[in-house]
Amino acid sequence: MPERDAAELLRDAKRVVAFTGAGMSAESGVPTFRDALTGLWARFDPKTLATPAAFAADPALVWGWYEWRRAGVERVHPNAGHRAVASIESHVPNTVVITQNVDDLHERAGSGTPIHLHGSLFTPRCSSCSRPVSLSSLPPSPDAASRPEGERDGRIPPPQCAACGAPVRPGVVWFGEELSTDALSAATEAAFGCDLLFTVGTSGLVYPAAEIPYVAARSGATVVQINPEPTALDAVADVNLRGTAARILPELVARAWADR
Ligand code: NAD
Ligand code: ZN
Repeated sequence: MPERDAAELLRDAKRVVAFTGAGMSAESGVPTFRDALTGLWARFDPKTLATPAAFAADPALVWGWYEWRRAGVERVHPNAGHRAVASIESHVPNTVVITQNVDDLHERAGSGTPIHLHGSLFTPRCSSCSRPVSLSSLPPSPDAASRPEGERDGRIPPPQCAACGAPVRPGVVWFGEELSTDALSAATEAAFGCDLLFTVGTSGLVYPAAEIPYVAARSGATVVQINPEPTALDAVADVNLRGTAARILPELVARAWADR
């Protein structure tokens, strides 16, 4: 089905879900986990840092990596794809954004309340009592070059919880951890009730998040995928648009509502 038809589907849709992954933010300059890490972090594999075992073994290494990622996200901006998603929300009020991303670029592009299936870089909490920790109570995001010599390996000891003294951890879902039940059930409900789901910039390999497009397809929705590469979700997608989020999404929006 060509792009024009996907635009028609969008114009006619009553309930849309935008299901997004790391590729959504790639054109903003946020690397996906497949991109090799750079600089200080070049010798690490993200998949081995984003685990409870890594935090237990070396909390300062993992906290330092997340602080570096948070600082990286704070330096960049939403791209035309994020803005197109927010525009879909304004045309189709029953739109739900479900993201696997831990950045805040959907929010900064104007999306109301995206469901963060894998948590957020901006919601740290106590690793023991789960008490939320306000970002404003933390030291400013570090710039590696400005830190004292001894800290330049990227390690930053995590702050301690004011209530129980345990180390503070990033508010993200690590590999091997359960997703928030509230987030997963809200996402499943939205996928079940939608008539059109866009899956954008996700490899569809991380479960249970990758179930979301299948839930939509099983309930009769049309699934449109936007990704420059083939993925595990090609088979569930009714329409595969090979291209980047920042190119394809704005084109779809422009065509869907060209005469309005
Ligand atoms: P992934 O790295 O497994 O897959 C990224 C996908 O994006 C690939 O299929 C790739 O072909 C596609 N892609 C690359 N550039 C694109 C572009 N410009 N437009 C559209 N698609 C593009 O990522 P995933 O499926 O999200 O799953 C991996 C995990 O990585 C998630 O749990 C997520 O939390 C985490 N992650 C998040 C961020 C972020 O918050 N921005 C960054 C890295 C990793
Ligand atoms: Zn605590």
